[in-house]
Amino acid sequence: MLHTAHKSSKLSGLMSQVVTRFAPSPTGYLHIGGARTALFSWAYAQNKGGKMLLRIEDTDRERSTEAAVTALVDGLKWLGLTWDGEPISQFGRAARHAEVAHELVKMGHAYYCYCSPAELDQMREEARAAGKPPRYNGYWRDRDQSEAPDGVAPVIRIKAPLSGDIVVDDHVQGKVVFKAENLDDFIILRSDGTPTYMHAVVVDDHDMGVTHIIRGDDHLTNAARQIVIYNAMGWTVPEMAHIPLIHGPDGAKLSKRHGALGVEAYRQMGYLPEALRNYLARLGWSHGDDEIFSTEQMVEWFSLEGLNKGAARFDFVKLENINGHYIREAAPAYLYDVMLATSAEVGRQADVDGLSANKETVLTALPELQPRAKTVLELIDLAQFIYASRPLAIDAAAAALLTPETRAVLRDMAEVLRGLNEWSVPAIDAAMRALAEAKGLKLGKLAQPLRAALTGRTVSPGIFEVMVLIGRDESMARLEDQTSAV
Ligand code: GLU
Repeated sequence: MLHTAHKSSKLSGLMSQVVTRFAPSPTGYLHIGGARTALFSWAYAQNKGGKMLLRIEDTDRERSTEAAVTALVDGLKWLGLTWDGEPISQFGRAARHAEVAHELVKMGHAYYCYCSPAELDQMREEARAAGKPPRYNGYWRDRDQSEAPDGVAPVIRIKAPLSGDIVVDDHVQGKVVFKAENLDDFIILRSDGTPTYMHAVVVDDHDMGVTHIIRGDDHLTNAARQIVIYNAMGWTVPEMAHIPLIHGPDGAKLSKRHGALGVEAYRQMGYLPEALRNYLARLGWSHGDDEIFSTEQMVEWFSLEGLNKGAARFDFVKLENINGHYIREAAPAYLYDVMLATSAEVGRQADVDGLSANKETVLTALPELQPRAKTVLELIDLAQFIYASRPLAIDAAAAALLTPETRAVLRDMAEVLRGLNEWSVPAIDAAMRALAEAKGLKLGKLAQPLRAALTGRTVSPGIFEVMVLIGRDESMARLEDQTSAV
């Protein structure tokens, strides 16, 4: 399914167009940091009327399974991020990577190195002894090929500049200067003919016509090395924006506990993709003080200047609040589908059955439930009263409201309700008010145990609405379950 196309970027028409790319390594899921990088790359391309390409960096053959690629693609699709053309396989382009490496040798910008592991070890030892960083000393840089030992397959090393500066002119980090003397002649092609990661990325970005690279700032030092290859080939270095990584709320590296999870974990926790998009957009990018904005607004406003230099901190509370906003705003029919899909995905079969069998009732109830939920899972919990089977499971807080005294009041309520001619919110409301008055109680004193008995919880939509939603027979039966149990 992955393609290896785009041999040369010298395609006319591409030159003025913004081309970004998302280049994940398939690890089995789309992690939250990758999702944000993809979102920024996508938003920038959209803003400029350009393209975002998808390159799967699948050179690690053990990890790069078909399932891992599918997980990435699914994660992007769920988040609503689209790319142009087919995903490109980095592994599939190995021959092209080798071709460029050999071209660099021909141009005199790279060379064969025949050093054995033992020689390299010795080199490092000597450097260390001289108080220098342990690295390759350029032994084969200017040596004649005639000195090559027999039967040794060489690696290809790039001739890195020996002096001067390598400057990464970054849209987020500013001008970052690397001293050439600190870069050694790194390997671009291994002795088995496979490219190193550093080299493959450059060749791919060039061939794909990438004009803007947006990625995590853990790649900043790689950028300096990659620039060496661009310069050696005489290729234009793409614009770069290295974004600070996401940290936990305490400022430490993002851990699983802090939210370093795959996007599917967020889906399973009940976050809506539009909420996650909005939240991730704010995590490292800003447009004034705007917290809530549509994806269309984000695309319209997105600029590299809006990317923040400071580390972003992941904040579950903020994400929940944004999610709550999107749940309140969503159309019930859409939420119903998400509730059903989420229940199925997390294996809550009773909810799948209940939601499926009571679609109309759930749709009617949803506008009442939406303001009370911050996640789709909470929404499902809130809807359970509709299809819960009798006798209801009563949660601890609700159980505390069902005392011998309140059960006695519930019995009186049941009697009044049994005598009603009409089962409607106004009729029930009037009858309950009259009963409260006769007993010298506040209406709330009646409503609380009623809610506990009818929903098994202390939170629900208006309890009279609940009674109309589940119907007269079910309401009376649930009430009797609680009153006859005394
Ligand atoms: N495959 C790299 C990663 O997942 C990204 C490489 C790049 O963006 O240049 O971190």
